[in-house]
Amino acid sequence: MSEPPSERCIFCSIALGEIPATIVHEEEHLLAFRDLNPQAPEHVLLIPKRHILSVDSVEDDDQAVMGRLILAARDVARRQGIAEGGYRLVVNVGEDGGQSVGHLHLHLLGGRPLSWPPG
Ligand code: AMP
Repeated sequence: MSEPPSERCIFCSIALGEIPATIVHEEEHLLAFRDLNPQAPEHVLLIPKRHILSVDSVEDDDQAVMGRLILAARDVARRQGIAEGGYRLVVNVGEDGGQSVGHLHLHLLGGRPLSWPPG
């Protein structure tokens, strides 16, 4: 289980309602909100409410919340009307993976054709 950072992380603050975000879905242990700098017409971030640094910090006990993140992404995609056209789920891990916020998050991107591979 990863320790909370010494300074409150931005996504923990969002989960605690200390800073605003456009929340699109909430469950007991996870939250989904709009990305501040969207890279597609639909760009939602899904996070565990509990601070987990990254996928590299996930432990066996996190299995349930990790599964819920995927199921919640599926539900949000359907609700936002992008499931039929298709979408992408991305988890950046660490520096080379392009992770800029140290609180595990799943990007849900859709609403336009997405190129592959990433740069
Ligand atoms: P990553 O580069 O995978 O760590 O993604 C971090 C994402 O968080 C980026 O897409 C940012 O635009 C987004 N982001 C950072 N701060 C906020 C915020 N306060 N509210 C919503 N999205 C944010």
